[in-house]
Amino acid sequence: MDNHQFFSQQLMAWFAKNHRPLPWKGEKDPYKIWLSEIILQQTRVEQGLPYYQRFVSRYPTIQHLADAPEDEVLKLWEGLGYYSRAKNLHATARSISNELNGIFPGTYNGIRSLKGVGDYTAAAIASFAFDLPHAVIDGNVYRVLSRFFGIATPTDTSAGKKEFATLAQQLINPARPGDYNQAIMDFGATHCTPRQAKCKSCPMQEKCVACQSGQVATLPVKSKTPERKERFFIYLVADFQGTTWVKKRSEKDIWHNLYEFPLLETDRLTVEHQRTEQLVAEHFFPEGLPEGACISAVSKPYRQTLTHRVVTALFCEITFADDTPAGVFERAPFEHCMPLLKTAMRKNIAVPRLIDWYLQEKVLTLRLI
Ligand code: SF4
Repeated sequence: MDNHQFFSQQLMAWFAKNHRPLPWKGEKDPYKIWLSEIILQQTRVEQGLPYYQRFVSRYPTIQHLADAPEDEVLKLWEGLGYYSRAKNLHATARSISNELNGIFPGTYNGIRSLKGVGDYTAAAIASFAFDLPHAVIDGNVYRVLSRFFGIATPTDTSAGKKEFATLAQQLINPARPGDYNQAIMDFGATHCTPRQAKCKSCPMQEKCVACQSGQVATLPVKSKTPERKERFFIYLVADFQGTTWVKKRSEKDIWHNLYEFPLLETDRLTVEHQRTEQLVAEHFFPEGLPEGACISAVSKPYRQTLTHRVVTALFCEITFADDTPAGVFERAPFEHCMPLLKTAMRKNIAVPRLIDWYLQEKVLTLRLI
């Protein structure tokens, strides 16, 4: 038996004993598989599972999702991050409904052409829903293959991508492509893990190049690590008799169409609260703070690491006197904003994750919102 056969056989035998039962496994409805795959992009299974259940129950068919307002879909997505996934999901449901009579495409190329669907997701849906022999390649697959076959070609180069894609396609079990893809992903996620691979109990051990040559910690290889740009935000959290002001973000970035407080983006943040207060007052109220208004608190920094950037945010809370004239809230920084009861914020609108963290903490510690 050659190494390819050995690998495939051992993998399927491992899967028979170890597969994790999850609601989307064994599912044949391409809509539900697509939903689970989009939710699981950049998200752990434990975190994505309740979202999958909520989406399936609120939108049991693609038509239900297509008919939903975007704000509602974004609200249901809140907390998962990378909101472009939710927007693509919704836009794609609408285009399948309008252009394909609500029928999910049944070929690899048809699936691949959907918005937000890359090679990996297309292969997963094609194999799980339609039994088409397209091998998935993700971080788990790169790790398992590079270790077992001892491949040190960097996975983020075009040569590496080609080499791994060819190998993965040779290994797939054409009779059970969906099970094979699920098996290699589960094996990578739970057994041949990045840091503590379970080599001692591994059925591949005797022929695994990395294990036999002490390269488990050094494979797979990447040629570069992504550079992360730092961004610094200061949000203005107004409080006038329990009401605050938020605005739908119009910039075409990952927070597009989510709601946020008036925002000041700066080159850096300072730990001195006095300096932050001064900066906020000068930027948002260049003619001076309205009478009776005072900056009541500056939050601790909230930090979120994304694939290409790290965002740090401070929340500057400003309280307005009860007799503040209504005109104050019609001018900058509140123009184009909408008033909202602070108690309703977490229930009614979708906000970026950093804002959600801040709001959650307010609920838990100060019970202000
Ligand atoms: S022996 Fe270790 S490195 Fe090799 S496939 Fe198994 S778990 Fe991964």
